[in-house]
Amino acid sequence: MVGKVTDSRGADSSGIYRRPKLVLRLKRYEDIPILLSKTRSYPTPVRMVGADYSQTRCVGGDGGTTVDTSALNRILEFGDSWVRAQAGVRIGTLVAALAERGLELPLTPEMGQISLGAVAVTTLPQASYEEGMAQMASCVAELKIITPQGRQMVVTDRERDLMRVLRSSFGLLGIVHEVVLRVRPLTAVKIDYEVFSLREFGIRYRSLIQSDGALRLHISPFHDRITVERRTRDESATVTRSGIWQIRQSVMRNVLPAFGSTVGSVLAAPGLRATVLSRVHRALGGGVRGVAMYAHEWMRDMPREAWKARHTYSLWAFPQADYPKLLSEYFAFCKSYYKKNRYRGNLVNGASRLHQDKNSLFSPSYSGPMMTLEPSSTGEQGWNDFLIDFNEFASARGGVPTFNQTRGLQPEHVVKSFGERARLFRALRQRTDPVNRLHNSFFAHLLG
Ligand SMILES: Cc1cc2nc3c(=O)[nH]c(=O)nc-3n(C[C@H](O)[C@H](O)[C@H](O)COP(=O)(O)OP(=O)(O)OC[C@H]3O[C@@H](n4cnc5c(N)ncnc54)[C@H](O)[C@@H]3O)c2cc1C
Repeated sequence: MVGKVTDSRGADSSGIYRRPKLVLRLKRYEDIPILLSKTRSYPTPVRMVGADYSQTRCVGGDGGTTVDTSALNRILEFGDSWVRAQAGVRIGTLVAALAERGLELPLTPEMGQISLGAVAVTTLPQASYEEGMAQMASCVAELKIITPQGRQMVVTDRERDLMRVLRSSFGLLGIVHEVVLRVRPLTAVKIDYEVFSLREFGIRYRSLIQSDGALRLHISPFHDRITVERRTRDESATVTRSGIWQIRQSVMRNVLPAFGSTVGSVLAAPGLRATVLSRVHRALGGGVRGVAMYAHEWMRDMPREAWKARHTYSLWAFPQADYPKLLSEYFAFCKSYYKKNRYRGNLVNGASRLHQDKNSLFSPSYSGPMMTLEPSSTGEQGWNDFLIDFNEFASARGGVPTFNQTRGLQPEHVVKSFGERARLFRALRQRTDPVNRLHNSFFAHLLG
């Protein structure tokens, strides 16, 4: 019925402790109800795992059954404005298949190893272009889910309230086996960089956030440098590869110096920065040629080893209006922490602008527009302690965390950030899964 039963895993390659009793590779979604009903053969909790790239213990093992969805890997149907696929399909695979058909997702992350199951039910904020579309789950228009009692449900975004809760459910309300995602015509993206000191950033901030496009920041507290990356869609550009834009003087002037001092970290991180940099290098070598950038081109698969040793981060979101002040306090926090503890993060910190998005209960920008702050590191000694203090810093300043990308989270952070929404989710979860078939200790600790 179920695929291979593998040995239980203790701590995974990230050091995240889990220890399920069984790890199963699911071959057919039709087996999920049987698996859920047989509590002796498949001990509680039953927890799904997609690509296994979360930064926290949200998958969890707890002596139960971990169900690997990677064999549910079929893209089932393409429409002009949607695509239907199974939950184990990796987003990198999907995005490549869409690009071949001249299509793309409304948002494209930089990392390819995210399963569609996780896209549907976790918090994956992305640098956004418009209100209502600031996280991957907002691309999801329909879900097929098996409830803890083994009943199949099909939920579409016409059922707004239900969909909002499911998009934040982390496998606690049911098991997703199929999703429909919105798609749009593949559109070229123009990428500009500008480099500021903290002071200059504060002066320019209002005009930066008022203009169009997605914003991603690369922040170096110890070099007093904030590189602002603006992505604007060029709807008029064709999909052909004949060069659309010239590499601009500003990119030449700004990109290389901006990354010069941190070139190691740029190369250690996957995604857009590395892609743009290698394009600039190539163009410099072969004369200035036009650069066309499509979202699928900045996506990268993370080498397994990179996850283990070279790149880790934590994510909080903060109200957009006060972000320059927040950054100024963060720079001071980093410096004072270093003075006291001789520890400082050794990678550039990332950040994204998030438009307001109420499509999921735990959306970081549920209450209004936000900017994230993502301290990053190679995970060297001192990093975990730094994050404990950083979490206090963030929570005290109105930060909003996530359950899959914020490390070292405590229940009081959750109460402070989500309040009534957390209470609502807890009540719903208790009613939907009274015997705690899908509940693990990570969520019991944080949400009750
Ligand atoms: C080094 C690194 C770089 C990263 N870079 C990016 C990035 O550029 N952009 C970005 O958006 N994110 C990034 N992430 C974050 C990562 O994508 C998310 O944490 C995401 O949740 C991982 O997807 P996954 O398939 O590995 O989920 P998993 O960790 O496997 O699962 C996440 C949660 O979803 C639940 N779940 C999974 N499948 C199902 C299902 N079928 N039904 C019900 N519940 C399910 C699990 O139980 C768990 O609670 C990065 C993470 C790392 C470690």
